Amino acid sequence: MRTVIGLEVHAQLLTKTKLFCSCSAEYFGAPPNTHTCPVCLGMPGALPVLNEKAVEYALKAALALHCEIPHRSTFARKNYFYPDLPKGYQISQYDEPLAVRGYLELPTGKRVRIRRVHLEEDAGKLLHTEDGVTLVDLNRAGVPLIEIVTEPDLGSPQEARLYMEELRRVLRYLGVCSGDMEEGSLRCDANISVSLDGELGTKVEIKNMNSFRAIEDALSFEERRQRELLHRGGLLAQETRLWNEKTGQTEPMRSKEESEDYRYFPDPDLVPLEIDDAWREKVKRSLPELPAQKRARWAQEYKLPDYDIAVLTEERPIAEYFEAVVRLYPNPKDVSNWMMSEILRLLKEGQTTEITLKPEHCARVLEMVSVGQINRTVAKDVLEESFKTGKAPDEIVHEKGLLQISDESALAEIMTKVLAENPKAVADFKSGKEAALSFLQGQVMKITGGKADPKKTRELLLQKLREP
Ligand code: ADP
Ligand code: ZN
Ligand code: MG
Repeated sequence: MRTVIGLEVHAQLLTKTKLFCSCSAEYFGAPPNTHTCPVCLGMPGALPVLNEKAVEYALKAALALHCEIPHRSTFARKNYFYPDLPKGYQISQYDEPLAVRGYLELPTGKRVRIRRVHLEEDAGKLLHTEDGVTLVDLNRAGVPLIEIVTEPDLGSPQEARLYMEELRRVLRYLGVCSGDMEEGSLRCDANISVSLDGELGTKVEIKNMNSFRAIEDALSFEERRQRELLHRGGLLAQETRLWNEKTGQTEPMRSKEESEDYRYFPDPDLVPLEIDDAWREKVKRSLPELPAQKRARWAQEYKLPDYDIAVLTEERPIAEYFEAVVRLYPNPKDVSNWMMSEILRLLKEGQTTEITLKPEHCARVLEMVSVGQINRTVAKDVLEESFKTGKAPDEIVHEKGLLQISDESALAEIMTKVLAENPKAVADFKSGKEAALSFLQGQVMKITGGKADPKKTRELLLQKLREP
């Protein structure tokens, strides 16, 4: 049995204003119906004016997905009635989309073909209250979206998830979409079919998934449901189904509407959109290094393990921070280890994405460790304090007297004391209990406030314990 999946993704563009009017596009959390005007309320006679920034963002996404950009694209009216759509139609692109024929390469190396990328406006939102009343909020009406449609190239629910994750990364690197699936800034309709003979089977469209997990789960459920039905000799209906997070099942919603039902026609209020070579090339030049390129370059240049690369290139600011530190302290694996353990932890604890530690301060701490000025335990504290206060590591180390004690006579003196005070541990070690060594080392650390050079301490302790 072969499973075939194709995704239709809607990504909300991070423009300040809506697609065809100057209302604020930041609808999330705003009081209902405050970001509205005659255009996005669909008043008779109000005319749309295309937002240039939205076109630029859509172009960025399309070019990052290696699409061809036709010189001309047009807007069309998609007609349907729903209370969250005051005009009675959605302005979208239909037979002449902004971009066609691209691809997205997954971290596995597989290329998923993109059929098209087009611009369209979002609808408003309905709020169903507990007492059976439905309220309409049109703040979201007219917010710019791009729809990104794949060819049916995905072979499993897991692969569909990889695609979504990579697409989100790309959009976030570009800064054109927040990628927040819970808030609905990135939404996915998934089409799936299974077949016995390798031909394309009848597809079912699934909606209402708002996390990567949900996409994978919904598709897995649907794959199983379709396989079982076909095994029993049943026939699949082409339909739209809703993912129910609570039951873990997909449920029938409606039989699939055909595009003829929408009576698409060119919107007479909007002239065709022309994108010349100069504009396209200008946007192309503005593209940042994308996650796939970054991963490949890092493997070459820094020879880091795939795992480190995946973690550190997930978010662009983190990746750029890593590179800034490596420029100052050129030991990539060391920087990677410290970032993955300490810095990502501090970000998580502070529930922030902003690295307040200056790259030069981070590099300095690592350097101090490498030359033995401070040990790793102290370094963690210094890093944390520098992260929280912005103070330079040297200042912190000197203020608090944190320089590592590696002077042998100073250490020897401390050890004589520790050995004298812990005769039982000494006896234990001599009778073969290796664990006693760690205990004694711990005592030295305690007395020195963690500043003793761990390696030297261990060597000296062993030497002393083995003295007759
Ligand atoms: P529709 O006209 O029903 O919207 P499209 O041909 O526009 O269908 O395709 C919509 C999405 O469904 C695309 O992402 C496409 O890759 C996917 N798709 C098309 N046919 C199949 C199929 N047989 N199985 C799974 N996905 C499919
Ligand atoms: Zn408006
Ligand atoms: Mg379609």
